[in-house]
Amino acid sequence: MTGQWRQNAACRGMPVDAFFHPDNTYGPTRRRLEDAAKKVCAGCSVRAQCGEWALTTREVYGVYGGLTEEERKQIRGRTTPSRHDPNLSTRIARMHRNGCTDREIGVRLGMTRDAVAKHRHRNHAPRRVS
Ligand code: SF4
Repeated sequence: MTGQWRQNAACRGMPVDAFFHPDNTYGPTRRRLEDAAKKVCAGCSVRAQCGEWALTTREVYGVYGGLTEEERKQIRGRTTPSRHDPNLSTRIARMHRNGCTDREIGVRLGMTRDAVAKHRHRNHAPRRVS
């Protein structure tokens, strides 16, 4: 994991194992481990950046930004945007009106913050009059 935000991570100095379950761990044991990691993430000031990083780099394993690997997979599968998605502009505009930052929108939609900003500006730009 790289990035200046990492300096402020609540998990800094913690054992890496706290965020990665051992192989072949399922059911209640896995949930208990993931819940413990999520509790640390819940109080982390860089949670949004961490979650965005894990989604955009398609990090496969571990808990990042309070999201388990399964939750990230679901978010990516459910919301990976397509340029041809007719509802993408509406979804971004609605989240923006509700006060979400580009970063937060990106985390939810599996997009980078820059991609959200570009999409938003492109669609909100004044029409050219010729
Ligand atoms: S959100 Fe969780 S995994 Fe990410 S930096 Fe913070 S404590 Fe660590």
